[in-house]
Amino acid sequence: MRRAMLDSPGELRIETCAQPVAGPGEAIVRVMRCGICGSDIHSYLGRHPLVVFPVTPGHEFSGVVAEVGDGVDDGILGACVCVEPSLTCGRCPQCVSGRYNICEELKVMGFQAPGAFCDRVAVPAEKLHILPDGVSFEAGALAEPLAVGVHALDRSGAGAGGTILIIGTGVIGLMVLTAAVSEGIDVIAIESDAARAQVARSLGAIEVFSPDDKGLARMARKVQVHAVLECVGRAETADMAVRLAPRGSTVVVVGVFPGPVPVRLDLVQDGELDLTGTLMYTSADFERALLILGRGRMDAGALVTHTVSLEDLAQGYGLLVEPGKLTLKVMVDVGGDA
Ligand SMILES: [Zn+2]
Ligand SMILES: [Zn+2]
Repeated sequence: MRRAMLDSPGELRIETCAQPVAGPGEAIVRVMRCGICGSDIHSYLGRHPLVVFPVTPGHEFSGVVAEVGDGVDDGILGACVCVEPSLTCGRCPQCVSGRYNICEELKVMGFQAPGAFCDRVAVPAEKLHILPDGVSFEAGALAEPLAVGVHALDRSGAGAGGTILIIGTGVIGLMVLTAAVSEGIDVIAIESDAARAQVARSLGAIEVFSPDDKGLARMARKVQVHAVLECVGRAETADMAVRLAPRGSTVVVVGVFPGPVPVRLDLVQDGELDLTGTLMYTSADFERALLILGRGRMDAGALVTHTVSLEDLAQGYGLLVEPGKLTLKVMVDVGGDA
């Protein structure tokens, strides 16, 4: 079978190797689609502190269950699935409390364990989620980033009838937007790129402001925003999030920061802001994401701007290393239309 290998930063190749065999409790998934994530680009560029080289990348995938190991019900053979790529210890205080997304020994497929840019991958059967009827493999591969959005939204505490402010409408910002709109939450967004702003509007944002819009501060005061979600990961947008957050609201840090950034804790204190982090998701968030997909509430066509074959994986990475005018999700077609 074919398998991608990232040997070291910048060294990505496709090789031929033996097929994996399902161990006890495992299933073999024949991979159909696998998205390229911003974090894949971080490891490709040597900026991901936790990746263990060499590794087969890929953690946003869908496929068909082709084989099961001992102890796994074979009724799942042939099922169309997506996979939660987190591997957790099950013993630490976070795992025991159910928050295994912040497991002390968290490993993620594609970073510290083999990922899915390959024809077949072995996964723990308990990490399989069956795709609802009518959900394509392409949409199924977006369940993972959508689950990130669902979890971030949950951390914001916003509910139906509320309003959130999303700073940055790249893929993850758009996933938060999709999750929010499907829950009946109004979304206002801030985005500097006109094409991305247009996508945010098409996915249901009621208003999209440019970051240098003079009306921003007035808008933030006028509208009762329940939470501000920073989805960029830069010092300026983190600062903006805290400054724009109305008194008594929540700031959720969704963006991934390359290092320490200064935060206006005086505003956090004085405005009684809740400052909250978010990481990945749990099984319940994944199921929530699949419910949104099953109801046709996510426009995969608007999010997937490019599709490449597995052979052209490096080219797909290139699209995200130097993003063109509208590059959102780059999808890798591994399995064709079978
Ligand atoms: Zn990802
Ligand atoms: Zn754990």
